[in-house]
Amino acid sequence: MGGALAELGLARVINAAGTLTRLGGAPMASEVVAAMAEAAGASLDMAALQERASAEIAAATGAEAGLVTTGAAAGLTLAAAAVLAGLDPARMAQLPRIEDGRSEILVHRTHRSAYTRALAVAGARLVDFGHNDRGTGAGIRGIEAWEIEAAIGARTAAIFFAATPWSVPDLPLVARAAHAHDLPVIVDAAAQLPPAANLRRFIAAGADLVVFSGGKAIGGPQSSGILAGRRTLIASALMQMLDMDVPVASWRAPLGVQVAGVPHHGLGRGFKAGKEEIVGLLVALRRFLARDEAAEQAAQTARLRAIADALPVRSTLLDAATTGRAPQLALRVEDAPGLAARLRAGDPPVHLGERHAGEGVLLVDPQALRPEDDAALIAAVRAALA
Ligand SMILES: *Cc1c(COP(=O)(O)O)cnc(C)c1O
Repeated sequence: MGGALAELGLARVINAAGTLTRLGGAPMASEVVAAMAEAAGASLDMAALQERASAEIAAATGAEAGLVTTGAAAGLTLAAAAVLAGLDPARMAQLPRIEDGRSEILVHRTHRSAYTRALAVAGARLVDFGHNDRGTGAGIRGIEAWEIEAAIGARTAAIFFAATPWSVPDLPLVARAAHAHDLPVIVDAAAQLPPAANLRRFIAAGADLVVFSGGKAIGGPQSSGILAGRRTLIASALMQMLDMDVPVASWRAPLGVQVAGVPHHGLGRGFKAGKEEIVGLLVALRRFLARDEAAEQAAQTARLRAIADALPVRSTLLDAATTGRAPQLALRVEDAPGLAARLRAGDPPVHLGERHAGEGVLLVDPQALRPEDDAALIAAVRAALA
């Protein structure tokens, strides 16, 4: 097993920390691996492949169009490039240096994360507004319509929105304010799956562009993601990512849009999605949509119960409604950061969720934990506690 990994001398991590990018996302199903292998052995028209992907993503999200990117972060950069340049090849050629016209993206302070940097990479100037009362615990108020109104100016190109289980109720309000000024809303929903119903939720609530990670819950290739939204914006993003060394006379713009001329290689050319990622993501997406969410949660809950019973610590089972995603097991332990570090340094290395380590809690997240690793996880935690 794992010939190449063994040859490289790499230890397989037992991952009970979730579908984290730094741990390689979620393990892929063999059906997805097989689809990637098939694509790897073929030459394909990449523009035609992305147009096919657009139809699949549109059907899954309710958006007009979609695009497979190299991850949600790349999707945010392409989304910003699309709102900055639109269908204007001259503006595409200018990016990321754009000083004239609409060049700013509004970000409410409760929506600022390390990932908003991905928007700035396209050349957008991020303009912060509002107060971070929720983040600092100073108050309960989030984003408000009058604050958006006051922040919008002649240079505003879009409004950014970070989707979380607690921020989403504000999305229709933000969309209304943006659309009153003909401005698009870009939503980061990278990790807002499951439930699969969330694939449609943000577009339905007024998002013009939304990104999801392909390598997290969807179970696609680690360096894949989805950008879905308005057809003209998706076409702009696609043209800024595809290889554009094309015969001008016979070229046609993608997704039925009209463009004044053929753009050159765009800002996104450096993070092109490969045929393997695109095909793998589409197969993973179909599987993700077809699965029985209730049955999967029941199976995860049963595994977590068995793990809880086998560990000599106090634990609480958190259901999917509480976590907003999959069920998790919260282990209450002495010196949680120390225990987590010992487990990470072990053989095999075991990673638990450390989000609440400071409060004496380590989490067991079943999403990327292979069932065949449950016994080794129990043994490692028991040994580390002893
Ligand atoms: C994981 C994540 C991203 C980046 O996703 P990739 O697919 O790894 O590029 C962006 N935003 C949020 C909120 C995330 O959790």
